[in-house]
Amino acid sequence: MRPQSPNSYQQALVAKAREIAQARLAARADHHDREMVFPKESLQDLSEAGLTASLVDKAFGGLGLGHHRGDILTHWLIVKEIAKADMALARCFEGHANAMLLIDCIADDAQKARWFEGVVNHGHNWAVWSGEPQVVKPGQKQRFGTYVKETTDGYYVDGSKVFCSSAPGADWAILMVSTKGPGGARHATSAQDLIMLACDLRDPSVTVDDSWWDPMGMKGSVSYLVRFEETFIPKENLIGTPGQYLHEDWQTRFTPQYTATFLGGAEAAYEYALAYIQKQQSQQDPYVQHRIGKMAIHLETCRMWLARTAHLWETGEIQEAKLAGNSTRYLVEQLTMEVVNHAIHICGARSLIRPSALERIYRDLSFYVRHDNDDQVLAMVGKANLGVAHDASFFHAGKEDRSARGRASL
Ligand SMILES: Cc1cc2nc3c(=O)[nH]c(=O)nc-3n(C[C@H](O)[C@H](O)[C@H](O)COP(=O)(O)OP(=O)(O)OC[C@H]3O[C@@H](n4cnc5c(N)ncnc54)[C@H](O)[C@@H]3O)c2cc1C
Repeated sequence: MRPQSPNSYQQALVAKAREIAQARLAARADHHDREMVFPKESLQDLSEAGLTASLVDKAFGGLGLGHHRGDILTHWLIVKEIAKADMALARCFEGHANAMLLIDCIADDAQKARWFEGVVNHGHNWAVWSGEPQVVKPGQKQRFGTYVKETTDGYYVDGSKVFCSSAPGADWAILMVSTKGPGGARHATSAQDLIMLACDLRDPSVTVDDSWWDPMGMKGSVSYLVRFEETFIPKENLIGTPGQYLHEDWQTRFTPQYTATFLGGAEAAYEYALAYIQKQQSQQDPYVQHRIGKMAIHLETCRMWLARTAHLWETGEIQEAKLAGNSTRYLVEQLTMEVVNHAIHICGARSLIRPSALERIYRDLSFYVRHDNDDQVLAMVGKANLGVAHDASFFHAGKEDRSARGRASL
């Protein structure tokens, strides 16, 4: 089956995101990048337009999009429009959306009522924090990771996480932590012991450390280090059951969304190059023609893979959707990096001098694609096609598929 064309409602939602992105969000991107500040006003704009509730059930006042509701493409296209204006902001929006999807699909009705009310009526921002990389990099003095102690009433979380997007501005975060020790979801030693806890970030035992965050790009995602000092989280804030996140491959629902952000950045780079060519009047240059031709084909390929992946989710072809999403993740990284490289070749050195959207996109994209290791993503796609056991969520070499089904292939 081929993906269907979007209906007028879907088109209107994406058009609304585009309008806000072009009229308001794009102008703030440079400030978020230079000052490394939380994109508060931009998220407020998106909230007032109802877009931060895109994945919230209509019964709770949301837009009711989602993989399981027959429309995830519209949400991904909204992410793309936001990323076109500001990739770092899109990361904050993505993290919030991931939390909404988990609550919408896994949380109980009382939790939904409690938390969605805050999002829909008060503009609360959410995040999902797993980041506990276990490999110590050269020069790194402290180890990252959390320890969890369970009591009859709840859990005590102690330790640190990094890459906590929206850290200084989020109201709530879903913490991916393990009762078996550090590692988060990505480096979990035991899938069964990974739990999801909704943490109210007003708790004084939670502190953010911005000194850790001095990256080359995605600066405005303010993905700081966060410390938890015996942070108590009541049992009523446990989302789903232990192990559910990895057993049900939830990460595979999020992976294609990252590619929407890559693609938004690359589309903006393409438009930057077109404007530059117009100024230079270099349309007749054969090298420019070749590079623009490749860029256009690459971008169209990315859009087609994203739409195909969405269609598979929307029509319930779940195993195919997971594989298509991971293939999309691999392909879109390669093609969008090439698109940006072509843009730089067309525009020259001055395009890499601030203020230049292309300069920022180059840094943001180069950094953000390292969210996963594309060598391992590609190996996973190979394994799936060979019928070999694999990890569809985090692509770990040597780790088998962590789903409860224990399938040999997707
Ligand atoms: C801008 C940005 C924002 C992010 N925001 C969030 C967020 O909000 N929430 C969140 O949970 N996460 C977030 N992530 C973090 C992300 O989920 C990863 O945890 C992070 O990229 C890991 O950092 P790393 O690559 O340095 O570490 P590692 O995971 O340690 O990887 C380093 C390298 O070593 C490889 N490697 C690691 N372990 C092994 C092994 N055992 N054998 C062989 N190779 C190995 C990896 O493939 C990689 O190439 C964000 C990432 C970025 C870039």
